[in-house]
Amino acid sequence: MPDDTAHRRADGTLADPHVGDIHRRGIDQGEADLTQARQVFLQGCGLLGEGDAPTAWQGAARWAVLDTSFGMGRRFFATWYAWQQQRQRPARLFYTAVEAAVPEAQDLVRSASPFGPLAPLAAELAAQWHGLLPGVHRLRLDGGRVQLTLAVGAVQPMLAELAGEHDSIFLHRLGTDHRPEPWNPHTLKAVARLARPGARAAGWGMPCEVRQQLAACGFVVEPTPELPQQPQALRALYAPRWAPRPRRDAAAHPVATQPARCAVVGAGLAGAAVARALALRGWQVTVLDRAPEPAAGASGLPAGVVAAHVSPDDRPLSRLTRAGARATLAAARELLQEGIDFAATGVLERHAPGERRLPAKWQDAIDSEAAGAGVASAEAPITQEKAAQADVPLNAEQRALWHTHAGWLRPAALVRALLQTPGITWRGAAPVARIAAAGTAWQLADAAGALLAEAELVVVTAGFDSLALLQAATPAQDARALPLHALRGQVALGAMPGGAADALLPRFPVNGHGSLVAHLPGPDGAWWVTGSTFERGNPAAELRAQDHDHNRERLAQLLPAAAAALDAQWRDGRARAWAAVRATLPDRLPAVGAWRSDHEQKTPPALDSTERDAIELIAKEEALPLHLLTGLGARGLTLSLLAADILAAWLHGEPLPVERSLAHGLRAARWHGAAPPRP
Ligand SMILES: Cc1cc2nc3c(=O)[nH]c(=O)nc-3n(C[C@H](O)[C@H](O)[C@H](O)COP(=O)(O)OP(=O)(O)OC[C@H]3O[C@@H](n4cnc5c(N)ncnc54)[C@H](O)[C@@H]3O)c2cc1C
Repeated sequence: MPDDTAHRRADGTLADPHVGDIHRRGIDQGEADLTQARQVFLQGCGLLGEGDAPTAWQGAARWAVLDTSFGMGRRFFATWYAWQQQRQRPARLFYTAVEAAVPEAQDLVRSASPFGPLAPLAAELAAQWHGLLPGVHRLRLDGGRVQLTLAVGAVQPMLAELAGEHDSIFLHRLGTDHRPEPWNPHTLKAVARLARPGARAAGWGMPCEVRQQLAACGFVVEPTPELPQQPQALRALYAPRWAPRPRRDAAAHPVATQPARCAVVGAGLAGAAVARALALRGWQVTVLDRAPEPAAGASGLPAGVVAAHVSPDDRPLSRLTRAGARATLAAARELLQEGIDFAATGVLERHAPGERRLPAKWQDAIDSEAAGAGVASAEAPITQEKAAQADVPLNAEQRALWHTHAGWLRPAALVRALLQTPGITWRGAAPVARIAAAGTAWQLADAAGALLAEAELVVVTAGFDSLALLQAATPAQDARALPLHALRGQVALGAMPGGAADALLPRFPVNGHGSLVAHLPGPDGAWWVTGSTFERGNPAAELRAQDHDHNRERLAQLLPAAAAALDAQWRDGRARAWAAVRATLPDRLPAVGAWRSDHEQKTPPALDSTERDAIELIAKEEALPLHLLTGLGARGLTLSLLAADILAAWLHGEPLPVERSLAHGLRAARWHGAAPPRP
């Protein structure tokens, strides 16, 4: 891993100034790198065929590549391009790469620009190249068919944070040209944990001792053809002679042998996102909702804010919402019309005087830069210009943040678009009252006992009502263990005031204690929405006059000029109200994945990086447990797409879109054995 003394040359090369040693080859080395990518890695793993011979990935449903070094991205671009050219290519390509020193976006573009077909791929990646803080990031490319999981950090700790089964492994030399770092056995074990039995590995710059270490980890090192200018190339097959031990958290994440029928109960953002994630993986999904139209619950919110949560300790919710905002905006860009149903305008977040919200490490970076400069994250300090537009006084006490990759969204539009995915059947006016196991399937019935659906997999995404459905499906003590709470919320909305007053409402959402989203386009003219209230323990979505007043007062504190411009609408009743019920859990994180009782969870869910992450195939006669996606609280717009991706990745043994430990904290089953919720 490059240390502090490493520096970046003009061509993107990372060099050590003391010894002139090369960590990463720059743009000039492009031709050599590409030859190496093709000869050593792609051919070594059977991904580039000779003549008409079938390639390893031909006809596969999905393919996952693990690369121990991203470098300048050329191996990734070469793999992506080879996948594009492949006949009968896998529907989805996962490429997981570790990188300690992330290149600049411009270096990616320049590194690929001399190589015709790779240049547009690099440009597409560069457009998403932001906010790559240490940790795991998922970048969705090629219409979501290519998913790059970038683990930013040192190889060994990052490998421990990755998950899923990989079919091809690219082992790149560690360290520099003159000072190669030894592969330690733990690193190779971590690689083996991520390999599917039968996976092919290809390596370059591999010292001899690695061959023995690989053999000890279950790889069979194969003879490698002489390749000009490719010293110490290596090929190996992952074929352990021992049966892999089930991973420790296998009981919490059963893997489906193959897609079948799935019933999703609840057509809000959670249900629609899960339905799409599973339909794209080949499931025949039926989405049931008791309402005649989708998005009848909290996801019917007229418009809301998509932005990362920021906290001084950069807690899991903050890290998840950063990944979530990226996932939501990627889906919105793919499925919605920008400027109509969403806009990535950026979001201004106001802090109360003296309130310290940023992690210290970011604050230091910001303090050392001139106001307005960006930090290497999704967030940046607010500029004077933005502050003036939103009428935010900016001084030492009044701090604000500018979320660059954030905006507003009409969730119901996204729900409808997600439900259009081929493979999804929508069924409104279908109130589920009972979910009962019937052999390897589940049967869903209404209160009169009429069968609504039958499916091998059921995912409950019914917001706060998920609790009642669990009670109807599992022993009473199991359902009570999920401490789900109702959190009623109300917003106010109305038409833009018109004329000069419009300029008093900022053109981007402003968040803080309350929020305002204005200049929203609509068929009857532009409009605004502000709120919202938080009323714990009320599961009824009724409108309340005192909440309407409260929203007016809140706006007056958040943006006094905007509140003054809208005041007449409150006085003469033009300002309307809308309310719904959120579902929330005590740790403010959603509940995702299998809902199992204690006795079913045979092994403790502790993480162990050296454990083999084997896939636990559910025995044919055993039904998949009920799955859940709820508890999205006040962040459902930001978290639903990401959480649905995590659920689908667990179910399919795929690479996770966030750190393994972060995803682990979302397991629905974490509440088993928890104290019953307060009534
Ligand atoms: C006032 C307010 C403001 C908000 N602002 C924001 C914001 O700015 N940003 C943000 O990220 N989030 C915001 N949220 C939160 C966000 O709206 C929710 O987290 C999200 O919509 C939850 O989606 P969901 O699919 O889990 O639940 P819901 O959208 O509530 O969907 C649950 C669905 O289940 C159906 N259902 C229930 N029981 C049954 C049954 N027995 N059978 C069949 N169907 C059933 C319901 O009809 C409903 O359609 C806000 C929420 C509120 C209330």
